[in-house]
Amino acid sequence: EFYLQEIARQKHLNAFIEVFDQTAAHSAEILDRQVAEGKPLLPLHGVVIGIKDVLCYKDHLVSAASVMLENFRAPYSATSVQKLVDAGAIIIGRLNCDEFAMGSSNENSAYGPTLNALDNSRVPGGSSGGSAVAVQAGLCMASLGTDTGGSVRQPADFCGIIGLKPTYGRISRYGLIAYASSFDQVGIFGKNIADVALVLEAIAGNDQFDSTASSLPVPEYSANLSVDTPKWKFAYIREAVEHPSLDPEIRSALLGYFDQLRNSGHSVTPIDFPLLEYIVPTYYVLTTAESSSNLSRFDGVRYGHRTQAATDDLSEFYAKNRSEGFGREVKRRIMLGSFVLSAGYYDAYFTKAQQVRRQLNDQTQLIFNDFDVILLPTAPTPAFRFGEKTEDPIAMYLGDIYTVFANLTGVPAISLPMFWHSNGMPFGIQAMTNRFEELPLLQVSELLV
Ligand code: GLN
Repeated sequence: EFYLQEIARQKHLNAFIEVFDQTAAHSAEILDRQVAEGKPLLPLHGVVIGIKDVLCYKDHLVSAASVMLENFRAPYSATSVQKLVDAGAIIIGRLNCDEFAMGSSNENSAYGPTLNALDNSRVPGGSSGGSAVAVQAGLCMASLGTDTGGSVRQPADFCGIIGLKPTYGRISRYGLIAYASSFDQVGIFGKNIADVALVLEAIAGNDQFDSTASSLPVPEYSANLSVDTPKWKFAYIREAVEHPSLDPEIRSALLGYFDQLRNSGHSVTPIDFPLLEYIVPTYYVLTTAESSSNLSRFDGVRYGHRTQAATDDLSEFYAKNRSEGFGREVKRRIMLGSFVLSAGYYDAYFTKAQQVRRQLNDQTQLIFNDFDVILLPTAPTPAFRFGEKTEDPIAMYLGDIYTVFANLTGVPAISLPMFWHSNGMPFGIQAMTNRFEELPLLQVSELLV
């Protein structure tokens, strides 16, 4: 009831596309009854969680913030959502985001943007902007987002909360409306590491419905967060911290913090990573290619918006359905992806980008042979103002420079709120460990925040 009141009170933030008030009340009743019957408390008993509007929850609407899927009802639950329910969580509603998770500012939603609660003239980040603001503004205790190229970490950074993208394959993608399947991963927003750890251990693990979900056992993250003050070996990418697009205040806060870590006995070493300038182009070639294929199913026949316009021609029917159903950014990416996959350009763009991805993976493994943790900024600037980048998609894409690295290589990464900018907005540090090393990542996060 408290959270339902808060959601109503802060409705202007536009964080929720739909509040599942009846489902939530019903879940609460069942949970209360279980307690009355003397049954033991579940791991997330009564924990109120919001989910990004790309995750299916059986019998509830799910739209990917798109006209294309308006009124689409999920016939089954995403594994991550089902596991939350099984662990006793109350799913309170579906959260606003950029259409089909494409964007960095939540300005691409068919339902209008979510507002950053700290400054309503600024973006909450994206694409999981609603999930970030819901936690930032206290509208739920934790939330799920998805992170294909930074969509959990960057909005967490813009809103001053914690955002974790686990290893690719750590959490099942079953029931997650795909953007780029070899990048997509469910992520978690929270206000402290213990909460994030608790949610992660509830939803991680193998799944017969997703062959890319790892069968590695899921550690008890929440019970093992504190370690005896080890001396960590940190690396940071020199080109990243020296990059001209990085806000000078962020740069000096980071460098100052590195000194602090050294003074506490940790090592912090700059490393060269000349591939940095290729990562945004590589990301946008590969993800648009995958999305053009994934989104081809929305033809208005099998799924999606169906035009009212009369036509006897099948191609025209498809074209009308898709032209009316998809927004600008989604269309731009489908066109770009179709282009890089087309016969004449496949080798020049798609094959080349795959080769770069391979090299990135190899070099990242070399870094983790010598270091425990890579530190990076999360974003080049704090939350920007609405409209500031809408006319220039390239400028928007370049803002993903620090986050797409972890998705290209599949490693886990977390954004931690640490500092305040002179413009009044928060910003943080991003930490990464090797694949499936979420436990050390959460442990080092406890040290850093
Ligand atoms: N900003 C990135 C993009 O627009 C990230 C999206 C995401 O992680 N879903 O593609």
